[in-house]
Amino acid sequence: MSGGTAGAAIGGVTTRQAGPGDAVGGVQPRWVVLPETVEEISAALRACAERDLAVVPAGGGTKLHWAPPPERCDVLLDMCCMNEVIEHAAGDLVVRAQAGATMGALAGALAAEGQELALDLPYPEDSTVGGTLATAGPPGPRAFRYGTARDLLIGITVVLADGTIARSGGKVVKNVAGYDLGKLFTGSYGTLGVIAEATFRLHPLPADRRWVIARLPSDGAAQRAAEAVAALAAAQAEPSAIEIDRPEPGGPITLAALTEGAAAAGRAAALRELIGAGEVAGEPPAWWGRISADEVLIELRFPPAATAAVLHAAEAARMALRGSPACGRLLLQSDRPIGEDDLAAVLSALRSGVEAAGGRAHVLALPPGRPYEKIDRWGHVGSLPLMRRVKERFDPGRRMSPGRFVGGV
Ligand SMILES: Cc1cc2nc3c(=O)[nH]c(=O)nc-3n(C[C@H](O)[C@H](O)[C@H](O)COP(=O)(O)OP(=O)(O)OC[C@H]3O[C@@H](n4cnc5c(N)ncnc54)[C@H](O)[C@@H]3O)c2cc1C
Repeated sequence: MSGGTAGAAIGGVTTRQAGPGDAVGGVQPRWVVLPETVEEISAALRACAERDLAVVPAGGGTKLHWAPPPERCDVLLDMCCMNEVIEHAAGDLVVRAQAGATMGALAGALAAEGQELALDLPYPEDSTVGGTLATAGPPGPRAFRYGTARDLLIGITVVLADGTIARSGGKVVKNVAGYDLGKLFTGSYGTLGVIAEATFRLHPLPADRRWVIARLPSDGAAQRAAEAVAALAAAQAEPSAIEIDRPEPGGPITLAALTEGAAAAGRAAALRELIGAGEVAGEPPAWWGRISADEVLIELRFPPAATAAVLHAAEAARMALRGSPACGRLLLQSDRPIGEDDLAAVLSALRSGVEAAGGRAHVLALPPGRPYEKIDRWGHVGSLPLMRRVKERFDPGRRMSPGRFVGGV
C-alpha cells in the first residue's frame, strides 16, 4: 500500500490519505484507516456510518482484484496493525489470531510447537488470516482430508457496519442472533463487515509426506483421470489430497496424490499399485496447490462423480486446468486477459456442459480496470434471496464493500 500525507483521524483512529496504490479494482479510496484494536475498528466503522462513507477491508492486498470492483470506496480499512497471534493452546490444538496476522507468521508460530493450520497456502508471507477467510480459498489440496478454511474455523470476532462487535459463541447480539458468523463471513469478500479475530482448529505436523505422481497421455486422459481419482478417493491407503494438472486443454493430465504420516512411503506405494502408473516422490510437483495465473480465473464446482464430464466440458474454455476433482473443485487459469465477447462465449459453452453435469462455474478474477459488463460472474445462484436478506440485516446502508458479492450484494 502506498504512503501519503496524514489526514483527519476517522473515529479517532490513525488515518492517512490514500494514494494510487490503494485503489481497489480501479476504485480509488480517499483515506486509509489503520486500527490497532477491535474497539478501534468499531469506532472507525461508527464514524463511517455517521458520514455515509463506504469501507473496503484489506489484509495483505494480494487479492483485492478478485471479486467485482466495489461500487464505491471512501475508506480502505487496512488491518496491517492487527497482526498478533493472540493465543496458541497447543494442548488443545487451537489458535486465536488477529485478522491482520500473516499466514506465514501464524505457520511459523505453530511449527515451533509441531503443529499446523492445514490450509496449504502457497504464498503465506503477505496473505492475512482475514483475507484468507474473506476470499474462502479456493481450497488447497488437503481440503480433501482436513476440510476448507470454513471447516477449520471454530470461532470468529467481527465488527459490523454500524460498529457492533459480535463474536460467534459469545454474548448474543440482537441483529446477528441465530446466524453462524464464521460460515457467513468466510467467503464474504468484506461485504458483511470486518473480520477482526479468528480461532482455528489445528493438526500435528505429519512425520513424513510422499507424493504419487502419474502422467496420463492425452488420449482418453479425462476418462482415465476420473477413474483414477475415484479409485484413489476410495483407497484404504487414505490419501490426504488428490490433484490434477492439465496445462494444455485436451492435452496430457498429471495426477498427484499425497500420503502423510509415519507410514506415508508404504501407503504411497500402495496407491501407485492401485492406479498402475506413476512414481513415488518426496517432493510435490511444482504446480501442487498453486494458482499460477489469475488474469482470468474461473472456479468449477461439481459432484465428484461428474469429474469425467466436467473435464470434457472444461476443454471448451481453452484454458489451463488445475485442482481437486475428488473435492469437486477445479480452477481454469489464464495468464493473459481475454476479450469480453470471447470470454462471454467461453462461459456460455462452459456453463452448458458443467451445469448439465450438476455443477456450476463462477468467475473469481478478471483483469482490473475494465467493466466486463457482459460477463455474468456468478451464473445461477439459488440462494440469492437469502444472501440479499443477510446483507440487509448486517449492512442495511450498503457501506461494506458494496457490489463485491453475488447479485450485486
Ligand atoms: C487453501 C488456499 C489456497 C490458496 N491458493 C492460492 C494460490 O495458489 N495462489 C493464489 O494466488 N492465491 C491462493 N489462495 C488465495 C489467497 O491466498 C488468499 O485469498 C489471500 O490469503 C488473501 O489474503 P490478503 O490478506 O492478501 O487479502 P486481501 O487481498 O487484502 O483481501 C482479499 C479480500 O478479502 C477482504 N478482506 C481482507 N481482510 C478482511 C477482513 N479482515 N475482514 C473482512 N474482509 C477482509 C478484502 O476486502 C478483499 O475482498 C488460496 C487460499 C486458500 C485458503
